[in-house]
Amino acid sequence: MARYTESVCRICRRENLKMYLKGDRCYTDKCAIERRPYPPGQHGQGRVKFSGYGVQLREKQKVKRMYGLLESQFRGYFHRASAAKGKTGETLLQLLELRLDNVVFRMGFADTRSEARQLVRHGHFTVNGKRVNIPSFGVRPGAVVEVTEKSKKMLRIAEAVETVDRRGVPQWLEMDKKALKGTIKSVPNREDLTMPIQEQLIVELYSK
Ligand code: SF4
Repeated sequence: MARYTESVCRICRRENLKMYLKGDRCYTDKCAIERRPYPPGQHGQGRVKFSGYGVQLREKQKVKRMYGLLESQFRGYFHRASAAKGKTGETLLQLLELRLDNVVFRMGFADTRSEARQLVRHGHFTVNGKRVNIPSFGVRPGAVVEVTEKSKKMLRIAEAVETVDRRGVPQWLEMDKKALKGTIKSVPNREDLTMPIQEQLIVELYSK
């Protein structure tokens, strides 16, 4: 499967936003966006003026990369959101947040979404008691996500859980550090999603 292979710090610098794609390093002064707060590349420090389309495109790229998705996957989520009732932009963000890999990351079982995705793929989690190894699996309110018995001793998960307090667990999730399991209390509200995202721009882009 195609995947993004360049330095992830370039993504943050391109979007001029700390996206916390590298786990611990993002909280240190080694963070690339702290050191070089301008877009990557030869002309990164030049003047950049985006057209209306450019602004919409950047917003879409930002969200797509934040969740580590490819264009076709992201567009698929947009189509599902636009077919659903309610505000398309908000529904789009909710669908993305309810992906199993994102929930594992948000609960603190992994330092980054890409690490969470790998852990899910390798079968380290159950949803409502059943092992699920599909990162895009959509979890629902009331679902219980738990580290499998065999994986509870994994150092990688234990280390991530140690640092969960620094990141915090969002209100729409509940996490039990000792039992290594969590519950989806509700669908996230727009106010729960604190990253600076203007989803309306994405809706405008795809509605052309
Ligand atoms: Fe982004 Fe983290 Fe890299 Fe900083 S260290 S630029 S927040 S991925």
